[in-house]
Amino acid sequence: MKVSLASAMGTCFGVRDAIDLAMSPEFHSDLTIVGQLVHNPQVSESLKQNGVSLVPGIEDIGQIKTKKVMITAHGAAEKTKQKLHDAGFIVYDASCPLVMRVHQTIKSLVTKGYFPVVIGQKDHVEVKGIVGDLEAHLVINTEDDFEKIKDSGYRKLGIVSQTTQQTDKVEGLVEKIRSLDYVDDVSFVNTICQPTQDRQVAVHELADQVDLMIVIGGFNSSNTKKLVHVCEEKGVEARHIESFHQLNQEWFIGKQHIGITAGTSTPEDIINQVHSEILKIAKEVEGLEEQALHS
Ligand code: SF4
Repeated sequence: MKVSLASAMGTCFGVRDAIDLAMSPEFHSDLTIVGQLVHNPQVSESLKQNGVSLVPGIEDIGQIKTKKVMITAHGAAEKTKQKLHDAGFIVYDASCPLVMRVHQTIKSLVTKGYFPVVIGQKDHVEVKGIVGDLEAHLVINTEDDFEKIKDSGYRKLGIVSQTTQQTDKVEGLVEKIRSLDYVDDVSFVNTICQPTQDRQVAVHELADQVDLMIVIGGFNSSNTKKLVHVCEEKGVEARHIESFHQLNQEWFIGKQHIGITAGTSTPEDIINQVHSEILKIAKEVEGLEEQALHS
């Protein structure tokens, strides 16, 4: 049984840098992360064990007990940062530069007279940050949201995407928006980040070769679920796990080639643990299959 790792997977540099900053000894248990940094229970647990407090968002400002606060890699609106400053907190900004690029891009589209539209999940912390300083905007996620464009009355649209969206989905939506008879002009800037694109390409390539894909990541991580979805669309069996404890030997029986991939919030040590356990299971299953052949 062959076991292969996706050529790109796991924690992106933006999230990794933010975690490293939060774990830095300079904070001495005096730091609260505002907004979920990663959708991964093990990482959240290890941050807590290092004395880092977590609050879901700026709405929970009243719960913050530390003097120092951190904006996550997913960024935040300028007015959110200002609110924290005004409340007397020392603000550390771990916004990923690739998220900041989306903020700048959408502002520049607005300056050029385009109505801002974001393709993404309206409740995601990154999207809230992208649109947080805009006077008006639309967030769309599927074709069902095109009605919102019609109702807005705007015919000249400036479109960007959440950094972790799927490229083919975003390009497909933009093409359809261009063909709507109530839209005159579309300026689209693809702001899906390079690490996300690399992971998408890697999972497509690996899914073409394997008959079982193990996808590692938080059960509430949307980019991990998207990796599962890519495999299923290609007709490849995919199993979503958070840790090696959830691996089941039965999944591997009769399989020739196992692929391993992971969402952008899955740390390297968790991927390594899963990889080692799969190698062990693969050996056991091969032994069982050989025994069955000779009995
Ligand atoms: S997913 Fe992309 S944009 Fe988001 S933090 Fe990671 S590198 Fe930055």
